[in-house]
Amino acid sequence: MMQGWVKGLESWIWIDFSLSVFMLGLFFYIFIHNPITRLHKAYLVFHFFMLLWPFSQFLIHTTDVVPHQLFFLSISFAALSLQGLGWLVFVCFLTGRSYLLTRRALALLAGPTVLLAALVLANPLHLFVRSEHGVASDRELGPLFWVLCAQLVLFAALSIACIVSALRGGTTLRHRKQVGMALKGLLLFLLFGWLDLLVNVVYDSRFPDIAGISSFGLALSALYFCISIDRYRVFDIVRIAQQDIADSMSAGLLVLDAEGTVLEANRSLQRYLSVQSGDRFDLDAYLRSQGPPPEEAEASFGRGGAAAHEPVLHELALSAPDLPGAAALHVQVHASPILTGDRELLGRVVTFQDVSEIRRLIEEKNRQNEMLQLRNRELVQIQEELFRANLKLEEMATTDSLTGCYNRRYLMQRLEQEVVANVRYRIPFAVILFDIDRFKGINDLHGHLVGDEVLLETASAVKGMLRRSDVLARYGGEEFAIYLPHTTRLQAERLAERIKEGVEANRIATGRPGLALSITISLGVLSVENESPLGIKDPKAYLRELFEEADSALYEAKGNGRNCMVGRRRA
Ligand code: GH3
Ligand code: MG
Ligand code: MG
Repeated sequence: MMQGWVKGLESWIWIDFSLSVFMLGLFFYIFIHNPITRLHKAYLVFHFFMLLWPFSQFLIHTTDVVPHQLFFLSISFAALSLQGLGWLVFVCFLTGRSYLLTRRALALLAGPTVLLAALVLANPLHLFVRSEHGVASDRELGPLFWVLCAQLVLFAALSIACIVSALRGGTTLRHRKQVGMALKGLLLFLLFGWLDLLVNVVYDSRFPDIAGISSFGLALSALYFCISIDRYRVFDIVRIAQQDIADSMSAGLLVLDAEGTVLEANRSLQRYLSVQSGDRFDLDAYLRSQGPPPEEAEASFGRGGAAAHEPVLHELALSAPDLPGAAALHVQVHASPILTGDRELLGRVVTFQDVSEIRRLIEEKNRQNEMLQLRNRELVQIQEELFRANLKLEEMATTDSLTGCYNRRYLMQRLEQEVVANVRYRIPFAVILFDIDRFKGINDLHGHLVGDEVLLETASAVKGMLRRSDVLARYGGEEFAIYLPHTTRLQAERLAERIKEGVEANRIATGRPGLALSITISLGVLSVENESPLGIKDPKAYLRELFEEADSALYEAKGNGRNCMVGRRRA
């Protein structure tokens, strides 16, 4: 049959035909390979097959050549067969059941449909159509026609089932209305298709040939679809959803193409920039015009041509007089390139994120930190002052204010443990008590201030003659005590002699020109060597005993005429 058509058709017709098939291929290629939604794609395929029916029906009437007419008839029916599939696919999308269209399901539906369409076109053994008496209007429809009718009924039934289940399902009212419109469109087409079948095929002998019944049904059906799509903005849903998402974002969103034309600017962006879709916007110049980023911000500037290919993070401090409070806004600008697989720049997505609150918190924290550091420094200072005051207090508590040597309390506290330990470990030590001779006379003769000076000078002269480990303390009035650790009797008595002589030789200025005093002292020395520790019951009492003995030696020295030393020994 195909051979017959080829012979029947002029060969030049095939050039135009091939070219139109080629262009049709391009049409499908563009829509399949470009980022439009799958819903768009499904509708385009479906709509194309819809318009193919009336168009090929029209073509039938443009020629008298019977094979041509039959060929166009075959095209229209092949398209109708494919349209049944298109119907189902589109309805699946419309009713939100596109998940049913797995590759396997599509292959199962499309395989037999395409095969049937091909068979209709090829019309082998006149299985689809046969012209009686060489007249196209006298055509005999074969079994393939009825198979095609059954296939259409099957697709229609599946589509209706899909629509009915969608209407019953828990969808929104808006969605139900939209699906309801599709159902009406489908029923309209089925009604007219059925009418066409009855009038022009089943009972064609009773009725005259009425052209265009199915075409009319298809056109009405398509109109219904278009109204439904238009009224319920079926195709806009994705776009509206995207816009909603973009507008509900708190961050400003700016999409630029490679030339810097604004493709998208969401509502939040208007806080930072007044740009609209279609404006030109030079992002890098804008960032540079905002000056260097705030010191604390980590930011990088896009430099040179390569920058547009790299993500850029920048922080701006925008002074915005039109903003409430007129406070500086800290805005983080993040520009990411949109690249193709070959790293060709398509455009940039720029987000503007308000980080003022974070910045304010950081500044607040820094301020608190500074205050804490200041308080810390003050505390350290107070601590140091306290430490110094403590030292001073300790010094005051242990030293005599007039002579600067230790006081009696300190001496006694220290010796209480030390002498007992000395005895326990057989360490020799000595205690010297000395008293200034006739000191009352000095006071009386020269006054108390000179008396004080004498006390101070004598103490310092004695201190100069002692070792570091020896302890000199003011014992009372003009009486002093010296503790000599690790000292034998001999060493102690020798030292006492030297002290006596040293004090006598010491000339003390009185403040009056030409008058320097010389005083003498009397000393009682008590040495402790190899004393048995068994006799020591109470350290305090033992110490008192020691000093009583030293005092008695001193008393003896006074009795011996003063300016002399009396030594005693405990063993
Ligand atoms: P003796 O040789 O027997 O020790 O005779 P003395 O005069 O030194 O002894 P006395 O105990 O009679 O006198 C001690 C005097 O020391 C009495 C007191 O006024 C004086 N004195 C005590 N403490 C101080 C002081 O801090 N400064 C001055 N200037 N005099 C003091
Ligand atoms: Mg005295
Ligand atoms: Mg005295």
